[in-house]
Amino acid sequence: STAVAEQSVVEPLPVLGRDVTVPLVTGGEVTYAALDYAASAPALQRVWDDVAAYAPYYGSVHRGAGYLSQLSTDLFENARKTVAEFLDCRDGDQVVFTRSTTDSLNLLAVALPADCQVYVFETEHHASLLPWREARVTYLDAPRTPAQAVATLERALAERDPEGPALVCVTGASNVTGELWPVRELAAAAHAHGARIVLDAAQLAPHHPVSVRELDVDWVAFSGHKLYAPFGAGVLAGRSDWLRAADPYLAGGGASRKVSRRTDGGVDVEWHDSAARHEAGSPNVIGAYSIASACKALTEAGFDTLVAREQYLIDTVRAGLAEVPEVRVLSLFGDDAPRVGVISFVVEGWNSSHFAAALSAEYGIGVRDGLFCAHPLLRTLLGSDPQTQGECGAPEAAPGEKSLNAIRVSFGAGTPDEHVERFVGAVK
Ligand code: PMP
Repeated sequence: STAVAEQSVVEPLPVLGRDVTVPLVTGGEVTYAALDYAASAPALQRVWDDVAAYAPYYGSVHRGAGYLSQLSTDLFENARKTVAEFLDCRDGDQVVFTRSTTDSLNLLAVALPADCQVYVFETEHHASLLPWREARVTYLDAPRTPAQAVATLERALAERDPEGPALVCVTGASNVTGELWPVRELAAAAHAHGARIVLDAAQLAPHHPVSVRELDVDWVAFSGHKLYAPFGAGVLAGRSDWLRAADPYLAGGGASRKVSRRTDGGVDVEWHDSAARHEAGSPNVIGAYSIASACKALTEAGFDTLVAREQYLIDTVRAGLAEVPEVRVLSLFGDDAPRVGVISFVVEGWNSSHFAAALSAEYGIGVRDGLFCAHPLLRTLLGSDPQTQGECGAPEAAPGEKSLNAIRVSFGAGTPDEHVERFVGAVK
């Protein structure tokens, strides 16, 4: 087990919901311990304050002549610049505002050139695994080391026709094991074989700095609600050529530069070449603004500090779980793999759903149970064929029956030490 420091040295960032209390079945109430950051993280207080300060002034983006419309348009376009800086984008990269990571990857999927071959590990979240169903997809087996991941990809790419377009889609940090994937090496392998690569940074961006330039990835996707921003907005950022060449993701106002009737009675459309091409409809200005605010807040807090603090929380949880013989932590790459604050496990003799329900009812701890929208990965990790009930939901099993799914605890910049200590105590 890992040696753990006495306590973390820096305070958590202030987030919403710190004082929310919930009732316990055993009587009384307790402050809620939100340990499901990987699903949705609580909004930073700072982001909420920024949004509240702006809310009275918001107006339509790109549409109105009035002062507030001008202001909102500026804020929306500046949010793009802030996100581009946050991701260390290259000159010429585009930042498209979407609804979420799922939306971003589906956008890219419809923007693929004809005959694009897609490579994706079976271990991906369904958002990265499934959008490519219309393209030609090669599913790669789960690797057991980061080096094996690179070797598996290289082998698959070596067999392709180097002339045709190809895309690799890979997660930066697993939403199940929290393990970091060798993104830079995978990007180098992709490029060496003439393929491009999109990084699913839904779980990476909230925990580590993501540099498009340094990682040398072609696109990055992430979601605001996992990055301490409220509201339904996400980002797809990266190379503009495929996006400019593609039909708009949605057809409508905002995406079109000029629309005219043809003499044969039809309609001709000239679409924008900018990010607006894929943002038809009235933009979610508050969503974009809140993401930009979160990017600034995290940058100002400093990822070095955030990573050091999170490592303390990770070590505390892992050391605590290691003391319980019935607990099996799920991992592809082994104990020493670098990881973010996302840890999944099963408990021998317990149904995972009942275990998670008990953490909630008896301790006021909110974790996640289920298959985490990564069914093939869970099948590999659990070594069985878990029954599923609903896309991401928890299968039913009788009390005492073998675990068919897993429990996930996840945390981040807003997590106080007490939450993970309470969790470890409750599991014990
Ligand atoms: N990719 C990963 C790795 C995720 O963890 C998630 C969310 N669980 C997604 C993609 C999808 O994100 P969203 O639901 O915000 O579209």
